[in-house]
Amino acid sequence: MSSLIRVVRAGLVCGVAGLLLASCAARNPGSPDVMAQHQAAAEAAAGNDLRPMMRLCTPEGVRRPPPDPDGSAIRALIQQPPPEPRQVFDNLYFVGARWVSAWALTTSDGIILIDALNNGREVDDVLLPAMRKLRLDPAQIKLVVITHGHGDHYGGAKRLVERFGARLVMSEQDWTMTQTQLEFATPAWDDPPRRNPARDIAAKDGETLRLGDTAMTMYLTPGHTMGTLSPVFDVRLGAQRHRALLWGGTSFNFGRDFGRLDAYIAATQRISGLVDAQQIQVFLSNHPGWDDSLAKMDAVQRQGTLAPSPFVIGENKVKRTLTVMNECAQVAKARYLQAP
Ligand SMILES: [Zn+2]
Repeated sequence: MSSLIRVVRAGLVCGVAGLLLASCAARNPGSPDVMAQHQAAAEAAAGNDLRPMMRLCTPEGVRRPPPDPDGSAIRALIQQPPPEPRQVFDNLYFVGARWVSAWALTTSDGIILIDALNNGREVDDVLLPAMRKLRLDPAQIKLVVITHGHGDHYGGAKRLVERFGARLVMSEQDWTMTQTQLEFATPAWDDPPRRNPARDIAAKDGETLRLGDTAMTMYLTPGHTMGTLSPVFDVRLGAQRHRALLWGGTSFNFGRDFGRLDAYIAATQRISGLVDAQQIQVFLSNHPGWDDSLAKMDAVQRQGTLAPSPFVIGENKVKRTLTVMNECAQVAKARYLQAP
């Protein structure tokens, strides 16, 4: 974050000396200097081990996807062969697809599922077989946390409600979005869940959900959508407990929207500030492409035991991950400011 400090200092000098000084170029968040500083800060935070996150710093990595009126683009992603489902902690299982994740957190009173894949068919073809293979009973799914209101995360929710009576958790903001104006729509996704006239559970920032012996704290991390939820919870390895953060929405696929970029910058900074205090040592995503979960699961499989877990990356690397996201959002902002 040292470049952030430099930018703030430059801004202070500017405020005193006036806008006409050459050094004040650094104050302009759209200046090439500022963009280069944020790019360098992202590179430094990424090191050699967080390279996949650097996609966020590229123009291609932040582009708004083109419309998908016949669903073919999303179906191509869905049709990739699913990875082998895996247990990754005593109480956490990957039961998702290759493009989008679903995580099952087991508790003493049933299962909390984090995200519901793209549609009911994918639930039937991928998620439920994955759970059964891992000896998890889908009838035990009590809560489905939908990290944000895009169809690759809510599309299968209706099926889970109909088949198992699961309760759905989403933020107030994204309940509103999915019940009024969808940001993206494609026929590859099932309709968003609706429990008319009432919504199901609307999680608030900082609120703790409880199921049996398990607590999950929901943080509102707006940007990817304005109601993105990032849950924080404990994962266990024998007698050891580790605090895990599941970042609920990573890419800037909303295009040139400064309000959302600013929200994302603030959210990553805020959560980074919680990492040491809460000893967050595990960073998970809802897409395997962001948290390298497929390679980590392969490593777990090779070693034949869950511990030591490659998912336990430590506080410093969790903070570096959030810094890459934060700095790349500032690169994106600077890039948009430079463009006419
Ligand atoms: Zn999304």
